[in-house]
Amino acid sequence: MMSLRLPSIDGLLRHPACVPLLERHGRESLLANLRQLLDELRPGVVNGQLAAVEISPEVLAGRVGERLAQQQRSSVRRVFNLTGTVLHTNLGRALLPDEAIDAVQMAARYPLNLEFDLASGKRGDRDDLIEGLIRELTGAEAVTVVNNNAAAVLLTLNSLGARKEGIISRGELIEIGGAFRIPDIMARAGVRLHEVGTTNRTHARDYEAAISPRSGLIMRVHPSNYSIEGFTARVPTAELAELAHRHGLPLLEDLGSGSLLDLTRWGLPAEPTVRQALLDGADIVTFSGDKLLGGPQAGLIVGRKELIAKIKKNPLKRALRVDKLTLAALEAVLGLYRDPDRLAERLPSLRLLTRPQADIFAQASRLQPALADVLGETWAVSAVHALGMIGSGSQPVARLPSAALCCRPQVSKRLRGRCLLNLEAALRGLPIPVLGRIDDDALWLDLRQLDDEPAWLAQLPHLQVDQ
Ligand SMILES: *Cc1c(COP(=O)(O)O)cnc(C)c1O
Repeated sequence: MMSLRLPSIDGLLRHPACVPLLERHGRESLLANLRQLLDELRPGVVNGQLAAVEISPEVLAGRVGERLAQQQRSSVRRVFNLTGTVLHTNLGRALLPDEAIDAVQMAARYPLNLEFDLASGKRGDRDDLIEGLIRELTGAEAVTVVNNNAAAVLLTLNSLGARKEGIISRGELIEIGGAFRIPDIMARAGVRLHEVGTTNRTHARDYEAAISPRSGLIMRVHPSNYSIEGFTARVPTAELAELAHRHGLPLLEDLGSGSLLDLTRWGLPAEPTVRQALLDGADIVTFSGDKLLGGPQAGLIVGRKELIAKIKKNPLKRALRVDKLTLAALEAVLGLYRDPDRLAERLPSLRLLTRPQADIFAQASRLQPALADVLGETWAVSAVHALGMIGSGSQPVARLPSAALCCRPQVSKRLRGRCLLNLEAALRGLPIPVLGRIDDDALWLDLRQLDDEPAWLAQLPHLQVDQ
């Protein structure tokens, strides 16, 4: 029997099947992948386990082409967020409006007046670019912006309370996703935690009793991802501010999500507004740019002028500062808030949060046949009402009436779990991965955020679920 021989590298590089790969990916990558593939195949050739077609130039080029395409695909990928959680931290939170995307493009493409005052020709401060707008929208005296709200909290605590005690209720010692825990942040900021009250009830007299010459500040934190119900007591911000000021202490309020406008005007659950927290007497308020605000990742610090000046002088500010793309996007998003009447049309997060249930249900009914068809008899697919949530620490217990495609495996109870995981994996494996949620022995695709219906439908034929 004639023994097989692998084609030579040089021969392969010149072969018509490889020429397009050479043009698309360059010589270096093609060569490396060809060498690797040949090395992998060599033992099979030596042992006589491979057939001639398996090492033909056409087949080898095809395999190398797949590898190169795989390597070229970026790691950052678009997905369909059909989880039902609108501001999903793991999926990038708020989507930017066109106005902000245009601003980011401009800032990315051209030099800009990031720290340059065009009026005087002198060096400027990047906070000046958005200070006026934020003051107008919140009523704050002064403003500074950092990379995210965790940075805002760290910087504020360190600037105003280092080597002193920070007084906070035991009901507000929160942990949020990604290991952000108030006691740890306080420690890193150099503030000594002085916790007061109990988990469910904290009174003004508890704060009062904790105040001493060692006190540096009083802090209040929005309980972003839980709610304390039943026998509870919490000191209203106005009363806490009055108490703090009586003792010459600043009151910090970390609103987490925070909102610039009262969301109840759109029928959404109430969230405290930044303006109200300041009116109530909070000296500094911190909140995120990419939660309810609907903008880019950023941490906004607003409040009394002399405190903001102190925060801006902290050397940590430089380490936590915001970049030009974020500032450009933030200004554009904030600009939309000047016209609240049209905000729900123009700001994607608010548009999605306020999408009527009937509209989502109609979409689910429209798409049901296509999905049922692709999934076949193993699955019962139905358009149903569902409950979603805002996400990112806004109204953790409130639910948004929504609608979903609910996929139930028609198999014995024993096989259901595996079946659901297979469908979940298949959806994740689509060219634009589709992310839903498994609950109550079914896979739910909440359609509140499905804007691009044609792209979603177009990839359905690629769905291949292992049985
Ligand atoms: C979300 C949140 C933070 C952290 O904000 P990031 O913008 O994610 O850094 C801090 N505090 C509270 C109360 C939050 O809800």
